[in-house]
Amino acid sequence: MRQLIWFRTDLRVQDNRALAAALAAGPTVALFLLSPGQWLAHDDAPCKVDFWLRNLAALKVELQRLGVPLLVRHAERWSDAPRVLGELCRQLRVDGVQVNAEYGLHESRRDRAVAEALAGRGVAFRSHLDRLLFAPGSVLTSSGGYFQVFSQFRKACHRRLYGALPEVLAAPAAQAPLELAGDPVPAAVAGFAPPGEALRRHWPAGENAARERLARFAEERLADYREQRDYPAVAGTSQLSPYLAAGVLSPRQCLQAALRSNRGEFETGNPGAVAWIGELLWREFYQHVLVGYPRVSRGRAFRVETEALAWRDAPADLEAWQQGRTGIPIVDAAMRQLLATGWMHNRLRMIVAMFLAKNLLIDWRHGERWFMRHLIDGDLAANNGGWQWSASTGTDAVPYFRLFNPLSQSQQFDPDGRFIRQWVPELAGLDRRDIHHPAALGGLFGVPGYPAPIVDLPRSRERALAAFRNLPQRE
Ligand code: FAD
Repeated sequence: MRQLIWFRTDLRVQDNRALAAALAAGPTVALFLLSPGQWLAHDDAPCKVDFWLRNLAALKVELQRLGVPLLVRHAERWSDAPRVLGELCRQLRVDGVQVNAEYGLHESRRDRAVAEALAGRGVAFRSHLDRLLFAPGSVLTSSGGYFQVFSQFRKACHRRLYGALPEVLAAPAAQAPLELAGDPVPAAVAGFAPPGEALRRHWPAGENAARERLARFAEERLADYREQRDYPAVAGTSQLSPYLAAGVLSPRQCLQAALRSNRGEFETGNPGAVAWIGELLWREFYQHVLVGYPRVSRGRAFRVETEALAWRDAPADLEAWQQGRTGIPIVDAAMRQLLATGWMHNRLRMIVAMFLAKNLLIDWRHGERWFMRHLIDGDLAANNGGWQWSASTGTDAVPYFRLFNPLSQSQQFDPDGRFIRQWVPELAGLDRRDIHHPAALGGLFGVPGYPAPIVDLPRSRERALAAFRNLPQRE
């Protein structure tokens, strides 16, 4: 029974459910599809595509050790996938295709179409739960609906974890070599310019690098995670999100690492481990929301009444925000970090998102798209969830009247201005008080080379509150 494992965002051999199932069922061949047209339509960032390709090259080496050849084929759009897979299964005389489930609307539609096309040829299509701890639809409220409130969702997840902890699979054993050569993995794909070497060095590819990063985090920083996680100048978080998004690590590997360092506890014990497991569950929550409330992946607000908001059409302000030239140092430092590294600290993602959607009153969807186009960890569910949280349009979102003040956030979470100094060198000479708010220094020209603020913070706050207050009655 010849098997095909079709890799997507699960680029690892360890603890990979579909790969394990394929190897158990028969001689296995691996496939990855290059789909640049689809990636462009999904706003996948060039640095993320480069990360996929680098991880694919590392995966090829791991697969070789297992005797599994990796084929790399082209399917410009996912609508081409049924044809490409159908032909390949015929050529290779494959009996079964194994995949790990992905949960976006387009991903689900693609898999249904492939499964149907293969069924017509007598090829079985099996989808496995792998990128999440719990299958969407299996963690529900007592009335059978999807959770809308995170704390309740987490409680239900904890009950599941008390019942059984999701296990990490044993390392796969090598199969007898097949008479089939693998394909070369391209170094780049047209339309996605590779990033610079500094970015690549910051995000080394391969599951060994990912597991090392996880082990180091668990050993050195997890215990202090709760105290350190909000300070962008400190490396207090795991920086594992690109690896989780591309499936170079599994959530089970992460959960088990945290449990090992907390004597198997997920609710009590070390507050750092408990908080970090909570973040893994936020990741889970937004994936479940995506499935339970498909309108959020159709570009719609979760809270439909917020569709009536009178967003400003302000292209110059949007551009200033995108380029890190708003005149608000913490916002500019964060946006420049994103452009240079493909990543942004979580505290800063909330600050810049709220600044765009509230102070600038620009539709959150512009910010969501810009993030997707630049994030190496861009993930539809987490990104949409984070944006709708910040814009007060989402499930369990921040109440609209609790606006962050970017200046006090800056003073609180970057007290010495270390993070700002790193990314906004124009301000490096200012002391720890002035660096948060150079406009307050006065003077005719301000700080040379640094823009004046593009909005008045108190007035823009009032404008946002009024816009939300005037919305029709909530559901
Ligand atoms: P850690 O603090 O070490 O957390 C561990 C893991 O938990 C992360 O790697 C991530 O997989 C998950 N996680 C943590 N926080 C969240 C969260 N709030 N929601 C969902 N999962 C979470 N995360 C993405 O992975 N992709 C995105 O595209 C994305 N876009 C975001 C947009 C906005 C506006 C906001 C506010 C948040 C967004 N996040 C996104 C969530 C979060 O900011 C990142 O997951 C986190 O900063 C990644 O850094 P880390 O790996 O060091 O996280």
